[in-house]
Formats: sequence, structure tokens, C-alpha cells
Amino acid sequence: MARFTRVFGIPEMRVAFFRGLRFRLAFSYAFFFTLLLVAIGVFYRQSLKTQLEGDVQRLLEEDWGAAKGYIKFVNAQPLWDYDKSDAEEVATYSQLTHLYLITDASGNALAYDDYKSLSFDADEIKRILALPQAVVLPPRRDTDGELNLIMAGKVLDDHKPPRPYFLAIGRSLADSQRTVGQLTRYYILSLLVLIPLSSLLGWVVSGRALQPVNSVAQAAQNITGSNLSMKIPPRGAGDELDRLIDSFNRMTARLGDSFEQIRRFSTDVSHELRTPLTAIRGQLEVALFTAETPDQYRDAMVNALEDVERLSSIVRALLLLSQAESGQLVLQKARLDLGAVVLDVVDQFQIPAQEKSITLTASITPGSVILADRIQIERLLSNLLSNAIKYTPARGGVEVRLGPADSPVYVSLEIEDTGVGIAPENLPHIFDRFYRVRNPETNRIHGLGLGLSFVSWIVEAHGGRIDVASAAGEGTRFRILLPRDADASHPIPAEAAAGKDSLH
Ligand code: ADP
Repeated sequence: MARFTRVFGIPEMRVAFFRGLRFRLAFSYAFFFTLLLVAIGVFYRQSLKTQLEGDVQRLLEEDWGAAKGYIKFVNAQPLWDYDKSDAEEVATYSQLTHLYLITDASGNALAYDDYKSLSFDADEIKRILALPQAVVLPPRRDTDGELNLIMAGKVLDDHKPPRPYFLAIGRSLADSQRTVGQLTRYYILSLLVLIPLSSLLGWVVSGRALQPVNSVAQAAQNITGSNLSMKIPPRGAGDELDRLIDSFNRMTARLGDSFEQIRRFSTDVSHELRTPLTAIRGQLEVALFTAETPDQYRDAMVNALEDVERLSSIVRALLLLSQAESGQLVLQKARLDLGAVVLDVVDQFQIPAQEKSITLTASITPGSVILADRIQIERLLSNLLSNAIKYTPARGGVEVRLGPADSPVYVSLEIEDTGVGIAPENLPHIFDRFYRVRNPETNRIHGLGLGLSFVSWIVEAHGGRIDVASAAGEGTRFRILLPRDADASHPIPAEAAAGKDSLH
């Protein structure tokens, strides 16, 4: 088998010759071409044969009419009555008597030429005599092996009453057979040339068609994890292969993005984790070498604890997101009065808002009941509120609105701030994992860029939608649509039902 193994220039990838696309394409092409040629040949050969035999039959029928005119019976013996001085009649006579047989009604031969060739037995003669008209019989071979078409039937003499005799005459089919045979030979000969030629053509054409596939495979082979930005150049033919190349390039681009994201993420995570770790280490070292009183030790420990807290929250966020994205986080859905939850969370954010002199208000239309996981909805709200407060300067405002949406199926939750806003070029990416906008004033990046990806995951997991509108320097509005719970059979948990109407 090794002899038939074809190597496409790629060491790892061997394509067995007979299983290769090129062989299969060329083979199918040659096979169907041969089939077509053979079918055409058979069809035309058959038509020609029928046509030529039809001609012979017509001549035979004319012969039959002439023979009946030439044969006379004298004393129950047949006589060929023709003018021996007329060259035409002589010619007709010799054609008619070339192959013939005359018998009496019992099948006794009276006159014949090449009698055995016709090989009629008495029974067959009787059967034909019983027929009302003469018939053309299937071709028979004579003693020389030549095929003849035979017409046989009844002739009557002048006796009163007339007596029946059996007459059979034949015409050779040799000429038409020769013509058909010759045509068949020529056709087969031309097939012997055409089929190998067409197979060769199929082989060359399929080779040319597949050549770009091989170069694509070659190019793909050269792409590795570290050069994912490398593209296979499109051929510009606009064909299926170009579509394949395009899809392949898009796939590598997506993979490249993911790789880049993972790489950035590792850098970000190590950076994020390093800062509090360095701080803890510093505080502990300072305490170890300089602290003397229990208060100084306590201060160092409190500071270190704060940083440990920060570390834990980063790790928690990462863990949560990876659980959410790998489908391990199962939602505990219950019937929830969203108004009550919103008021609770807004309440919790009043202190940080006041610290930044930000007015935090909520306006709630009662009756926004959804089927949701309370913990996740609270997480969603706190992520959005903490962002709103974080990115809104002092004396700004943050407003939360909950009410009916345009569609009766949804409730609409809006969180709007008068903060720094998001530049249009960053807007499409803010829900991406690890995407953070650099602060233009401090030129620093804060956070891990996980908050909004988590928010969007929560919204999607509840069958909702989220969009954002923002103008740099004017503020940002997040709008979330969550499906209402239409089924009143779900009980509302007691703690979610206890809510206030509005809060300023
Ligand atoms: P992080 O957890 O680091 O804040 P997020 O995913 O919550 O990350 O937010 C991504 C980016 O979106 C942030 O870096 C910030 O620049 C921008 N952003 C989010 N919310 C707001 C907002 N209310 N106003 C302005 N910018 C915002």
C-alpha cells in the first residue's frame, strides 16, 4: 500500500491514493463519461440496426408480391414464369430464387434453393398455411452462416377449388449486419482512445481544481498558536474555496482574539493580584521591623486584612465568571418583586453615593414581578450601581427607574448617571470580558473589566436583553429588559415582597 500513498508536501498528512479527492473526482468523471459514451453507442447502434432491417423487410415484402406473380402451378408442380429475354425479369428471378422454398400443403418440398437453410418442418409449414396472410419471420442463418430475413405464407394454384402451397423467400441481412458491425468496431476503437484521454483530462482538471486546496492546507500548516494573525491569502476567484479560506481566516482571527484575551487576562490578573500582595508584604514587613505597640500591630493587620479582602474579591469574581461561563452556576429562580429588590440595593448604595455627594434616586412602578435568581439580580444591580457611582463625579446624579417596557412581556430597568460617559469607540466592547477603559485623567486602568460581562451573562441567563447609551462627558444609561413572570402560581418569597414604593 505504501506505493500508493501520496504525500501532499505535509509530513503528517498522508492521503491514500485511491481515497484521495483527486483520484475520486477523476475516476467519477471518467466512469460517467464512459457510461454516457457506451449508452449513446448502444442507442445509435440499435437505431441503425432497426432502420436497416426495416429497409430489408420492405424489399422482402416487394419480393413476395413479385414472387406470387411469377409462380405458376402446372399439374401441382411450381414453375417460374418469366420472360428470359427481359434482363430486368431475369434479374428479379435470380434475386427471388436466391433463397426460396415451395412445398405442398403437407410440407413436401417441390422446388427450392438452399432448402436446408430455411429448415421448415411440416408442423411449422402447416401453422403458417393456416394464417390468413404471409408473415415475416425472425431472421435465420443459412448453411453459410449468413443471417436472412424470411417471409413465408400461402399461395394458391388455378385448380378448382384452388389448392394451397407453401412459399418462403429470404433476403440476406449480411449487408446491414456488416454496416452495423463496422460502425460498432469503429465506435469501440474510438472509445479505446476517448476513454483514456478523458480520464487523463479528468485527472489533470481535478488536479488543477484541487491544487489550491493543497496550498491552503500548506498555509494552514504554517499557522501556529504564536502566529495566529497570519492569514491565508484569498485567491480572488470568489468560489467555494475562497469562502473556505475566508471562514478559515475568520476562525483564526477569532482564535487570535481569544488567545490575546487570555494572554491579556493572565497579565491583568497577575498585575491585579500583585498590587495587594506587595501592599500586604510591605505592611507586614514594616510592622515586623518598626511596630512596637499593640496598636501599631493592629493597624498593620487591619490594612493587610483590607488588601486580603480585595484579593479574595478578585478571586471570587474570577471564579464566579468562570463558573457562569462554563455553565456550572445554576440559577435558583423564584418569583421576585423586582421593585423591592431594587429598593433594597439602592438603599445599600446610599452611603457610598452620599460620600461622593451623588444624588441616588429610584422610581419604581409597582407590579414588576419576574422569575429570577435573587442573588444574581442583586449582583447585577450592585455592579451597575457601583459603576455608576464610580464613574460619576461629585454632585452628579444616579437614577434608577423600574417600570413597564414597550412590550407587555418585559419589565424595563434603567440605571442612568450623569457621569463621565463612555466614548463611542469603547461602547461596543464594554460587555467583553476584561475590557476596561483607561482613565484619561490618571491614565490608569481600574478594576478587572469583569463586572459588565457578568451583568450581561445574568441578563441573558434570565432571558432578558441589555443595551447601553452613552455620551462622553454627559452620562450613561443602561437599559435592561427582563421577562415578566406571567404565572401567578409561583409564590413570592416573604423577604422579596417587603419593599418600599420609592426612595430618594
Ligand atoms: P470594572 O469591573 O473593571 O469596572 P466593567 O466590566 O464593570 O469593569 O466595566 C468596563 C468598563 O466600562 C469600565 O472600565 C468603564 O470604563 C466602563 N463603564 C462601565 N460603567 C460605566 C459608567 N456607568 N460610566 C462610564 N463608564 C462606565
